[in-house]
Amino acid sequence: MPGQSPRPNKRELLLEQARRHMAGGLLHHLIALPHDLETVMARGQGSRMWDVDGREYIDFLMGSGPLVIGHAHPDVVAAVQRCVTDGVQFYELSEPLLKLAETIVEAVPCAQRVKFVNTGTEATFLALRLARAFTGKPKVLKMEGGFHGTNDYAVWGTRHRRSFEPPYVECDSLGVPGVLREQVLVAPFNDIEATADMVRRHKDELAAVIVEPLQRNIPPRLEFLQGLRQVTRECGVLLVYDEVVTGFRLAWGGAQELWGVVPDLVCLGKAIGGGHPTGAVAGPEEVFRNVTPRAVAEGRFVIASGTFSGNPLSAAAGLATLQVLHRPGNYERLNANGKRLGDGLKRLSQMLEIPAYVCQVGSVVDILFTDREVRTYRDTWTADSPKGTKFRHEMIRRGVWSPPGSKMYVSMVHSNEDIDRTLDVAEAAMRTVR
Ligand code: PMP
Repeated sequence: MPGQSPRPNKRELLLEQARRHMAGGLLHHLIALPHDLETVMARGQGSRMWDVDGREYIDFLMGSGPLVIGHAHPDVVAAVQRCVTDGVQFYELSEPLLKLAETIVEAVPCAQRVKFVNTGTEATFLALRLARAFTGKPKVLKMEGGFHGTNDYAVWGTRHRRSFEPPYVECDSLGVPGVLREQVLVAPFNDIEATADMVRRHKDELAAVIVEPLQRNIPPRLEFLQGLRQVTRECGVLLVYDEVVTGFRLAWGGAQELWGVVPDLVCLGKAIGGGHPTGAVAGPEEVFRNVTPRAVAEGRFVIASGTFSGNPLSAAAGLATLQVLHRPGNYERLNANGKRLGDGLKRLSQMLEIPAYVCQVGSVVDILFTDREVRTYRDTWTADSPKGTKFRHEMIRRGVWSPPGSKMYVSMVHSNEDIDRTLDVAEAAMRTVR
């Protein structure tokens, strides 16, 4: 009615609720959008997502990676529906879980045994505990800029932009016990000389080296992965791959299959839950030998248990996802989609003469505005991050959901039209940051 202030739309009302009740007014704190882009999602289908006001987006966040075969794939929906009527939680073994474990063991080169948890954060936490228990040594080594979730051992040298005195770095978060500073060594990703030297110098105290084989948006040098494999073996240190992102995404056997360098332990998450919360650690039988009540009497027990760990609902959704992915032609489709987007972004940056580094490994795509080829974490510091942030915001404004701070996760169900439309949007967005 004239003279009255317009009714706030549903989005505004819900965001107001979020501000009143949610910590920080947000769901997560790694990505904060300006107010006009903040929203509340209502529905996802295939490559698309709709917010509560009916705004449609082509989605490249894809639930932060798990939705490799898109939102609400019919096979996943059917598997979940079956599970919902049969009981979603027993805290006991279930058939979907056993089938999922078998699939992981058959697919992933290093996997002989699997232990399920609920998130990637729990998986890396458990892998490091297993490594300490197995080797009897206390310390772990991670890479500068490497992200392994938010447990107390993971949040060192991850988001910092400062120099530090290797191997010890300041913590990324308040509230983490200061004593852990001495327990977590940090080495430069893709620099095998410096990393191998650190491993050798600390080998008597070092239980594990944990690394994302594709570190965020930085592809590995093959000799880095090979060198890590060699030096960890030589020093009695377990090599742990964090394949929470890359597992079942880059290839059926993950990054270890793609690059042919096999670790001791692997952390999985995201894809193996088909959009439902899950995580897992897999590796040789002997590392898991004491993860059993039978080890209590021997004083060798390694504790690893959780109410929802290995729940049938996540297992059924994950299994259905992996079964779809494994069908002939689907990895080719997934990788071709990533390449179409990556090639398109490279073409745009050349055409518009905006220097950019485009990372494209299979269906993982990212763009940084820098004139440098990015091979180390410190190379990423050369990127113009305000430009990158603005670019992503302009993409969202034009209907492509791809928030700053996250890679672009391409799915098997993005169509060529989705990607071409995205590239049109990317061109318009790039023109705003020239
Ligand atoms: N490791 C890597 C490589 C990740 O990208 C993430 C999450 N983005 C994690 C671990 C943590 O997984 P979660 O968010 O399920 O705890």
